Amino acid sequence: MRLRVDQKLFLSYLAVIAAVVAALTLGVGSMLRTRLTENAAADLRRELALARALSDRYPELPPDSLADLLARLSDRRVTLVGRDGRVLGDSERDGAGLRAMENHLARPEVRDALEGRWGQAVRRSTSVGAAHLYMTAPGANGTVIRLSFPLQEVHRAVGRVQRGIFGVGALALVLTSLLSFGFSLAVTHPLRQLAEVARAMAAGDLGRRAGGRVRHRDEVGELSEALDALAGELQRRLGQLEGERAEMQALIDAMAEGVIAVDASGRVKRANPAARRIFSLARDPRGLSPQEVARRQAYLDFVRRALAGEPVPPTELRVDGQHLLGTAQPLAAGAVMVFLDVSALRRLEDVRRDFVANASHELKTPLTAIRGFSETLLDPDLPAPLRRQFAETVKQNADRLQRIVDDLLDLSRLESGGWRVQPEIVSVCDMAREAWAVFADAAARKGVRYGVEAAPEAEYVWADPSALRQVFTNLLGNALRYTPPEGTIEVGARVVLSPLSSSSSSPSTGGAGTGEGEGRPWVEVAVRDTGSGIPSAHLPRIFERFYRVDAARSREEGGTGLGLAIVKHLVEGHGGSIGAESQLGRGTTVRFTLPLPDVHDEGDPYLDASAAGEGEGEP
Ligand code: ADP
Repeated sequence: MRLRVDQKLFLSYLAVIAAVVAALTLGVGSMLRTRLTENAAADLRRELALARALSDRYPELPPDSLADLLARLSDRRVTLVGRDGRVLGDSERDGAGLRAMENHLARPEVRDALEGRWGQAVRRSTSVGAAHLYMTAPGANGTVIRLSFPLQEVHRAVGRVQRGIFGVGALALVLTSLLSFGFSLAVTHPLRQLAEVARAMAAGDLGRRAGGRVRHRDEVGELSEALDALAGELQRRLGQLEGERAEMQALIDAMAEGVIAVDASGRVKRANPAARRIFSLARDPRGLSPQEVARRQAYLDFVRRALAGEPVPPTELRVDGQHLLGTAQPLAAGAVMVFLDVSALRRLEDVRRDFVANASHELKTPLTAIRGFSETLLDPDLPAPLRRQFAETVKQNADRLQRIVDDLLDLSRLESGGWRVQPEIVSVCDMAREAWAVFADAAARKGVRYGVEAAPEAEYVWADPSALRQVFTNLLGNALRYTPPEGTIEVGARVVLSPLSSSSSSPSTGGAGTGEGEGRPWVEVAVRDTGSGIPSAHLPRIFERFYRVDAARSREEGGTGLGLAIVKHLVEGHGGSIGAESQLGRGTTVRFTLPLPDVHDEGDPYLDASAAGEGEGEP
């Protein structure tokens, strides 16, 4: 059984007081008994001497009368015993009673007196029944005088004193109980409260304070102050730690690199948002095994290396089509791994490699032709008509080379950021007509019709005039190239709220919308033809550099495979977007968006409309 402090105190007090009371009762009782008995013996001795003197003085008195006389004088029981041990006189027995008394010769005190000595004995009286102190002395005529003192009186006195001591002890016990209760209230109650506060603090409630409950100016008060100080300090440190942890977490969460901490068995302990994105993990991926994170040998091998206890230097691994650059640092139990997604970088490298290969190939074809034909031209025996034809072929290929180099230079300027949009308010219709002028003769020969029609509110755009001219030139060139005789080419414009809002939902759309957000109105320009169309499998790629549906035909028609890539760059340079839709054998529509001029843009298109129409689209 566990006892509380106050209970222990109470019980120890109780034990001490009980022991003291018992010792006092017994000790004092025994001392008092001895002392009283000694006093009684001394009294008896004095009275015996007196009795002896009196018995010597009245030898003629009959022994029983003498015993009565002596008893009256000494206030004791007096017995006179004869030489033969017969009781001759007794102050408390007369006549028959006296004669019935047994012989006292065997009594040790009587025997002592008969031998001439004073005798003394403590014994239970056979005649009276109670314990008595007997004292004897030799009397006249060889008799024995015996005085007795009932020890009952001593016992009674001792009992009274012992009861007194016991009573005081009991009182002390009651007082102790009250004291210990008070002590409990004064000391153990605040201690219990402190314990309760400490338990609450241990359970995480660091806002609890002992000071409010325990207001003592003693050690308990000091303890409560110390406890409060401890809690305050703990709270401060915890707050600091929590702040640092939050900062750290924000830092890790904001990282572009995926961070995964794993335990010694490779199971995820935590993963930042980038890691969750890279490995397509759930919101709370804790506890996922390496196989559950990525079923790729490369990842499993990487985790194994990370857990081997050595830092892992940057290592490239392929996981689910992604190129990842991973590093790892061992922890006390587990490791932390960092993955950088370098897929875009690798893709860019691929694109560049392809581009160099494509460009070289494109340049090589006309160059080979020029070289071949010019070598043939050097032959002096070549007939004149052939010479002329070959020279024309050389020129055609040189022109082609020129176009490719021009387009490549344009593209490189656009991609390197060397070109800056210088927007003005430009009339879409004027620009579309102006760009068509180059193709008008060829179109007339082919019997292709051309029309431009814009909604009044979509007549003007906020664009770079030379860029817009090039966009139209490239798109109209393509349209004419792929439209058979008697076909139609149309340019239309309307206002939309977001770039390619209507056509971007079309499944046949190619190209990516990169326009600004919704809200600002845009002008959507569409270049429609009734040409051969583009197979839907090719549609998403026609804006890539050198991508051609039919390379041979494109080359034959004078295409470079760069026209749409340039158009895309120019449109996106304005914040707009571009896409295409097509039906095989029925025609193609390329749509692009450009910003609508707003009230803050310089000039008023409606006032300056005539001016804009005149000067090559410049307001
Ligand atoms: P090219 O110089 O070969 O025309 P572009 O980049 O302008 O290169 O076009 C890429 C490819 O898209 C073309 O080779 C052609 O196959 C296809 N294309 C572009 N415009 C049209 C169109 N209006 N009709 C049919 N096909 C087109």
